[in-house]
Amino acid sequence: MVGIVIIAHSQQLAAGIREMAAQMVQGRVSLAVAAGSENLQNTLGTDAIQVYEAIASVFHDDGVVILMDLGSAITSAEMALEYLSPEHQQKVHLCAAPLVEGAIAAVIAAAARKNVMEVIAAAQGALAAKITRLGLTTGSQNLKEIRLLVTNQLGLHARPASKFVTTAAKFQAQIKVKNSTKNTDFVRADSINQVVTLGVMSGDEILVTAQGMEADAALQALETLVVTNFGEVGAVNLTDVVPKITPSIGNSHLPPPHFQGIAAASGVAIAPSLSLKPTRLSTHPFLPVSQYHVEYPEVEWQRLHTALGIAYREIQALLSHASMQIGDTEAAIFDAHILFLEDPTLLEAIHQQIFDHHCNAEAAWCAVVEELSHNYRTLDDPYLQTRVADISDVGQRVLRLLMDAPETTIEVLQPSILIATELSPSDTAKLDPTRVLGICITGGSPSSHSAILARSLGIPAVVGVSEEILHLANGTILAIDGEIGHIWVEPDAEMGRIFQHKRETWLQNQDIHPIMEAAGTRDTPKEPLCDRHPIRVFANIGSLEDTQMAIANGAEGIGLLRTEFLYFHRSQLPNEGEQLLMYQQIADILTHRPLIIRTLDIGGDKTIPYLNLPKEINPFLGFRGIRIGLHQPQILKTQLRAILRASARHNIKIMFPMIATVGEIRAAKMILQEAQTELRQESISFASEIEIGIMVEVPAAVAIADQLAREVDFFSIGTNDLTQYIMAADRNNPRTANLADGLNPAILRMIHQTIQAAHQAGIWVGLCGELAADPLALPILMGLGIDELSVNPPAITPLKQAITQLNLSDIQAIATQALQQDSAMSVRSLVAALKFFT
Ligand code: PEP
Ligand code: MG
Repeated sequence: MVGIVIIAHSQQLAAGIREMAAQMVQGRVSLAVAAGSENLQNTLGTDAIQVYEAIASVFHDDGVVILMDLGSAITSAEMALEYLSPEHQQKVHLCAAPLVEGAIAAVIAAAARKNVMEVIAAAQGALAAKITRLGLTTGSQNLKEIRLLVTNQLGLHARPASKFVTTAAKFQAQIKVKNSTKNTDFVRADSINQVVTLGVMSGDEILVTAQGMEADAALQALETLVVTNFGEVGAVNLTDVVPKITPSIGNSHLPPPHFQGIAAASGVAIAPSLSLKPTRLSTHPFLPVSQYHVEYPEVEWQRLHTALGIAYREIQALLSHASMQIGDTEAAIFDAHILFLEDPTLLEAIHQQIFDHHCNAEAAWCAVVEELSHNYRTLDDPYLQTRVADISDVGQRVLRLLMDAPETTIEVLQPSILIATELSPSDTAKLDPTRVLGICITGGSPSSHSAILARSLGIPAVVGVSEEILHLANGTILAIDGEIGHIWVEPDAEMGRIFQHKRETWLQNQDIHPIMEAAGTRDTPKEPLCDRHPIRVFANIGSLEDTQMAIANGAEGIGLLRTEFLYFHRSQLPNEGEQLLMYQQIADILTHRPLIIRTLDIGGDKTIPYLNLPKEINPFLGFRGIRIGLHQPQILKTQLRAILRASARHNIKIMFPMIATVGEIRAAKMILQEAQTELRQESISFASEIEIGIMVEVPAAVAIADQLAREVDFFSIGTNDLTQYIMAADRNNPRTANLADGLNPAILRMIHQTIQAAHQAGIWVGLCGELAADPLALPILMGLGIDELSVNPPAITPLKQAITQLNLSDIQAIATQALQQDSAMSVRSLVAALKFFT
């Protein structure tokens, strides 16, 4: 029989659960508790040894299920598992079920001699009854509602719908929306698919209702979004709509085309054809997938979640790539793909397939996605019908991951015109316009996201071409005019000349660099250094205004958000909600760009009166940064909860300041883990794999950089503090300013040591002290291999300019020489004399 262990912070709580459980099954189950602490001052707590003993007392080959309350209970359970032998460990399962409901369900299942997986499933499903019950009885007395007129050009199509869903999901409220004009049913506002399939067009009225703690704030935010036309400026972006079909100038004397398709992206091209093999069966929207009965639905559910997690990261990478290549507006197409993965109604339907029908994850996924595709296909709006290509794109991605199939990439080795039956938005976004000169698709639609992406990439495209084109041999020369949808096969020499000329004129008008197709080479200017060394230029910020300035100046992300500003000029600590709002507002401005949030770094010269910290004789060497966070963990935990909540939909990383020992970063990570556990228990979403970094600004951290690098995902060197601590020269004292020069070889050597340790451990290193903005430091830092520089917003443009002008073949040699100088002055003279900048 399966054994049950209950871990709780309070002995009374555990005793109560034990009593209820015993009554349910009349003692016919082996149940042990590990609860409370032996500390007489504070009897609340958990202890790994107690947990271990409890497991040992009920251990059985059928397995043991552990249920726990929150926070350190989970840590104690995990530690206790480590004391077990590997064979025993395999039989002991930590269960995420709610403690009281889960324990009762688990003992009933165990007493009924269910196997260990069934006991876990019973415990995990134990909340369902309560949820259903409360759902029925919550009533509508607190229901708030608002009617909004949608006036943006294309209505709630994918990108505005993504913004709507993302905004709705930020609030602790149940939000529903209906298209009142079309008198549809209400749908959940956090489901991208339900919102899109409302078919809201420009001029339609929507009715939004909200219930819950943040209902008012949610409705207000949604109202702002709708009345500001979802941020669409004036008319909708031209690439959103089908290109105007005007006869191409100078085509009148050309022979009739061999193929007449639908114009999808304007421009002309002439090049050999390259046919893409379909990566899936044309009659079936998915790879062939078989359905079978599974014994352990939890395993299938876990497999699905793993695949969704990987898909999420893949799409994030695609989004970053697309936004660099074609800009944020078009790249936002992939925001909708991410929301699709998170769509709660979709996940509920799959959950049902897996748990109720014991269906394997692949078949469950396909069934639900196919049904959704059908819903899109049957919509009235032809524009929304084309979104089925996006559903199928995400569908294929997750299915590939579930089936562990390799990712197919489109390899185009020389300038070509692609021929295919279809091209997914993901594939289109990755096309290289210097190799793919044109696209001919037999399926498709000019309003599909693939066509929008082709237009943004400047690749002429024709869709809806006759299938006969698929029979052409690879290498057949094609001439295409994407403005009128014409395709010519094997044009003669005269026509070839006309097309080359037309293409060059078109490229010039497009401001795209001409490509010398005949030679197969690109006429590129001298390669700027930044192309060879992918150094990232980020910004240091301390307010919303800074964020706007950073973006306006071209920051690729935020390398340091000094969060102290949130704590100053007030009489008490900012609460979690206030912090969350600010982090979200900043992250919203950044869209996909990374945001590194540094946890509170007060002390030193920055004080907060309401914390009543004792005055210190030597505050820079005293109680500051992470030392305060570890001493008053509640302050740090509240901040980490806010950061984690903001990370649910934004690219956020956490950075801890003033780390000097391995123990400190481990302790900080424990508090982070506690915050994560709490959020999980409260069903509040956050990015589960958030990156963690530290400021390297204490010399001790440099000395043990190899050990610290094993604990984190990145370093950011804080040369302002590092310099003052290395040189024992107060950063604010003008009399020691000559000593506190970041170009002193002592500092450069410490930077070098930090970068080496980080790179050996496989993590990246940024630098966010003032040194990053010093032009004389730039060649040295780059030569030492720094990966990212983060500077104040006004310094971004000059820094980027300096990077592109840097004319240097041997920055590494310069860095080596700089390390050998005997003063900051001689380092400065060395770099100045070498005239790095053209
Ligand atoms: C630093 O110490 O270099 C740094 C960037 O942090 P702050 O200036 O906020 O101490
Ligand atoms: Mg600092």
